[in-house]
Amino acid sequence: MQHRNADPAEIQKFEALAARWWDPNSELKTLHEINPLRLNYVDRLAGLAGKTVVDVGCGGGILAESMAARGARVLGIDLGEMPLRVAELHSLESGISVDYRRISVEALAEEQPASFDRVICMEMLEHVPDPASVVAACGRLVRPDGWVFFSTLNRNPKSYLFAILGAEYLLGLLPRGTHDYARFIRPSELDAWVQSAGLRITRLTGLAYHPLLRQYELVEGQVDVNYLAACRPDV
Ligand code: SAH
Repeated sequence: MQHRNADPAEIQKFEALAARWWDPNSELKTLHEINPLRLNYVDRLAGLAGKTVVDVGCGGGILAESMAARGARVLGIDLGEMPLRVAELHSLESGISVDYRRISVEALAEEQPASFDRVICMEMLEHVPDPASVVAACGRLVRPDGWVFFSTLNRNPKSYLFAILGAEYLLGLLPRGTHDYARFIRPSELDAWVQSAGLRITRLTGLAYHPLLRQYELVEGQVDVNYLAACRPDV
């Protein structure tokens, strides 16, 4: 299946990792480690129980399933085939029900505009050829009283040092080649796309890694490497 706004090499990276998606010690362990932080961030700011949620670029479903466990009705979408299969199997095993579909966010936005209370797109924009198009589609999917959340990686010398040299080469937290520095996104760039999508950023929060403690934490203001953006429709 060819999609205008997808890079087959990027999709392939995650196809190859899919079988180990739920292994907390695998190449995807960072997603497991940051999950409670981002889940609580969304739940505290916007609330999840009883809400309709779409998780864009959901992969094997770590975040999607955890949001469903908080009482949300979750649809996970991705263009990878194996990650979605793994997500479906895991949901059968866990008994936590999530719907999964292989569809682009742009196509879903045409099909179901303004129909989700929460639109979540985490660790995905930096793998896409035209991230502004994804942000615009997220803006079309959300209800007027809803929330949209993004997380991605900033682009500056420190993020190169931490996210590529540190995480991929020195600490081995991520497989080499996971990230392409040129695709990292400055908050100012995200802000411009968010505004064009009819949204506004209401909060920017850093997700910082402590090499000594070997753990992540949310830090307000410190957005120089990993960061989260909470957005609302600009009505
Ligand atoms: N959001 C999940 C997974 C992040 S990994 C989480 O944070 O836990 C990045 C995911 O983006 C992979 O599953 C990959 O298949 C997906 N992806 C990459 N390009 C995409 C595109 N153009 N459209 C949809 N999903 C894409």
